[in-house]
Amino acid sequence: MDLLPLRLELDGAALAANWRDMARRSGRAACGAAVKADGYGLDARAVATRLSAAGCRDFYVATWSEADEIGAYIGGSGLSVLHGVRVEDMPTARASAARPVLNTAGQIARWRETGRPCDVMVDTGMNRLGLTPREACSGLLEGLQIDTLMSHLACADEPGHALNEVQQSAFTALASAIPARRYSLANSAGICLGADYSFDLTRPGLALYGGSPSPGVAMEHVVRPFAQVLQTRRVHAGETVGYGATFTASGDMTIAIVNLGYADGYLRTLAGQGMLRAGTVGCPVVGRISMDLTAVDISQAEVGEGDWLEVDYDLPTISAAAGLSQYELLTGLGHRYQRRWS
Ligand SMILES: *Cc1c(COP(=O)(O)O)cnc(C)c1O
Repeated sequence: MDLLPLRLELDGAALAANWRDMARRSGRAACGAAVKADGYGLDARAVATRLSAAGCRDFYVATWSEADEIGAYIGGSGLSVLHGVRVEDMPTARASAARPVLNTAGQIARWRETGRPCDVMVDTGMNRLGLTPREACSGLLEGLQIDTLMSHLACADEPGHALNEVQQSAFTALASAIPARRYSLANSAGICLGADYSFDLTRPGLALYGGSPSPGVAMEHVVRPFAQVLQTRRVHAGETVGYGATFTASGDMTIAIVNLGYADGYLRTLAGQGMLRAGTVGCPVVGRISMDLTAVDISQAEVGEGDWLEVDYDLPTISAAAGLSQYELLTGLGHRYQRRWS
């Protein structure tokens, strides 16, 4: 663990505050948490433990192996597997306390044999996973013990998009036609669309981890990456830095080479955009980002070998600058960070 060369400082209080914020915006609906993809890259166990302590009782993962990883950390809360149940999953699923979110007629047939409760996904216009509304109303679901009937919004992060209302009304119609214990439509952005979208249960992910779910909605920062200086060097006017010699020094300068690269999710589109910080002094990225290394301009900072620099990682800002989604910025962080929760 101590050998891991990079650091992610993770703010557990901010995570819990973001969940409470989403819970408050969900009104009377219960507020769950999407913790798929290892808790959006932050460590699903640590996230689930903290959200469970904050009062979250419904967790969403993508796969049965993800369900296995966090099952012991959610204290008997509900756990749903969004990909449903494949033939290969059945032995694990039978032994698990988690519920599948059934998406197809095949999955329904497979799960029916267990006699156990399930969730069901209906596609109301995204054309991703889920039964069509016609299938859902065809009798296919009869006799199933449905805990949560759900659908997923395609454009909730664009509040003015016409598809939001189309999906909301389609889901309202389904909710009155198909018996289930609870109904759920909204992800983080959906919660921000207003009370009509919350139904009985919401499923935020991004906002919990500090991402901005909707224009103008800011959450508390949860993630702060740090990289360490491996070497500093003088670069003279006219010399170039890095692969492809894409950066030419216009004057003499000092650079630091840090142990962070695109294998750590610091992708090459951040060249010319990214910024690291020595205290309050900005150190802009110069030249191309390598797999494991990045050069930054430290001409204005007091920085030496072994020093730690904070990586600017304000999710909405970096997302806009780099042309990467906030989701990609989180889930790409990789395995070379020591994840330190406070
Ligand atoms: C990932 C996911 C969520 C959470 O979405 P965010 O945009 O991260 O809030 C909710 N529901 C489903 C079905 C998902 O796949």
